[in-house]
Amino acid sequence: MDYEAVIGLEVHVQLQTATKIFCPCPTTFGALANTHTCPVCIGMPGVLPVLNRKVVEFAIKMALAVNCDIAPFNVFARKHYFYPDLPKGYQISQYESPLAEHGWLDIEVDGRTRRIGITRIHMEEDAGKLMHDENRPVSYVDLNRTGVPLIEIVSEPDIRSPEEAVAYLKKLRQLVRYLGISDGNMEEGSMRCDANISLRPSGQKGYGTRSELKNINSFRHVQRALEYEIRRQTALLLDGQDVVQETRLWDAARGVTFPMRGKEEAHDYRYFPDPDLVPVEIDSAWLTRIREELPELPDAKRIRLKRQYGLSDYDLEILTASRSMADYFEGCVAQFPHPKTVSNWICVELVRLLRQGDQEIDTCPVSPAGLAGLLEMIDNGTISGKMAKDILQQMYHTKKSAREIVEEQGLAQMSDESQLRIVIERVMEGHPKEVERYRAGKTKVLGFLVGQVMRETRGQANPKKVNELLEKALNP
Ligand code: ADP
Ligand code: MG
Ligand code: ZN
Repeated sequence: MDYEAVIGLEVHVQLQTATKIFCPCPTTFGALANTHTCPVCIGMPGVLPVLNRKVVEFAIKMALAVNCDIAPFNVFARKHYFYPDLPKGYQISQYESPLAEHGWLDIEVDGRTRRIGITRIHMEEDAGKLMHDENRPVSYVDLNRTGVPLIEIVSEPDIRSPEEAVAYLKKLRQLVRYLGISDGNMEEGSMRCDANISLRPSGQKGYGTRSELKNINSFRHVQRALEYEIRRQTALLLDGQDVVQETRLWDAARGVTFPMRGKEEAHDYRYFPDPDLVPVEIDSAWLTRIREELPELPDAKRIRLKRQYGLSDYDLEILTASRSMADYFEGCVAQFPHPKTVSNWICVELVRLLRQGDQEIDTCPVSPAGLAGLLEMIDNGTISGKMAKDILQQMYHTKKSAREIVEEQGLAQMSDESQLRIVIERVMEGHPKEVERYRAGKTKVLGFLVGQVMRETRGQANPKKVNELLEKALNP
């Protein structure tokens, strides 16, 4: 029996607003525990939440980016559960009428594009963070995160493999970064993923019973946890057993998932509309304004760059990975209008330097104008392409311009013809046999003689010029 995986993801994204969703506390990460708190976010009685308008705008941006319908009338609901990281005893979320529904996102895996449906996107607040003492039976709670704004993005069960799940998550991360609504950092918890997975006999329409893998915090772990679940569920089904609907956790160290809680403990959240918050109306004027503020998104950018500059898919993948990367490329092309050359230098040399220095393009020490200046010097024959690689490395580490480095180190190519002729004459006198052989028809010797000239000039001769002049001298 052949089984097919059916996967649906629930992704929480922490929004990068300056303040929390219902109070003016800052959202910055890493502050001393419980210093970013106030009576509202620590759940004192008698306080009132006030909705942060920016949260709605950020959530709408995401909803538009994944082609959702936006609900004109939004209600917040209380979701009740009891846990020490939730001081109010309920989380403010959205339930029956989420902000957005019926969207989709295209992903590409192995050169094939697949459309993944987005069921819904809603806004909610984050809970606090518990820390368990390893040595004593004591837990601590940090409420700095309580009330930090989140959106939850729920996908349709349209994903068919762990690779597609990772591609979907990477696309979401790329989108939230393009939109500037989150840093999308999974390791730091700004993007968290619950993965639902079931198997079904290949070709069958209906879905099987799923397990839900909670809070996986890296792409690699999502991939490995889903692969494990496929193996586990396949073994059960082949053995004639049923998959139990349950929540499971991923143990990265052991490489297995294990049950957290079963269906019998399923929560009754007793949702009801939060009476402290007025419904939010999203009118078309507001929507239009937000739509106009949207940046060019990755798919559109890729299509435009391809049309405008005729680059390869491989290059486009790198150049559209982030907005800053694409801006860097276009900034450079604006000053040195040879897109393919610029793209090659960014995708090969610059990306390598960034990777070695563990840097992002945003903090690249070489500016687009700086790279353009270097490429200009190759183009006008001042330096060779080979030297330019070395100079770029120096630019990267010293922040000096190409011109400064070339001048300081006397690296400019010898292009002066009378100077080159003197060297060529000397080389020809020193290698009479080779000259003879060339003249007897063995024109391959030219390469050797060019090499000798390059050596005499310590690589600074302009190779194109040398070829030209040498050929002239050999064929008087
Ligand atoms: P809950 O809120 O209890 O987690 P939902 O109906 O909201 O349940 O579904 C959550 C996620 O589970 C969605 O992403 C959905 O696509 C996915 N899902 C639902 N049924 C299945 C299934 N049989 N196999 C895999 N994923 C599923
Ligand atoms: Mg769920
Ligand atoms: Zn607060």
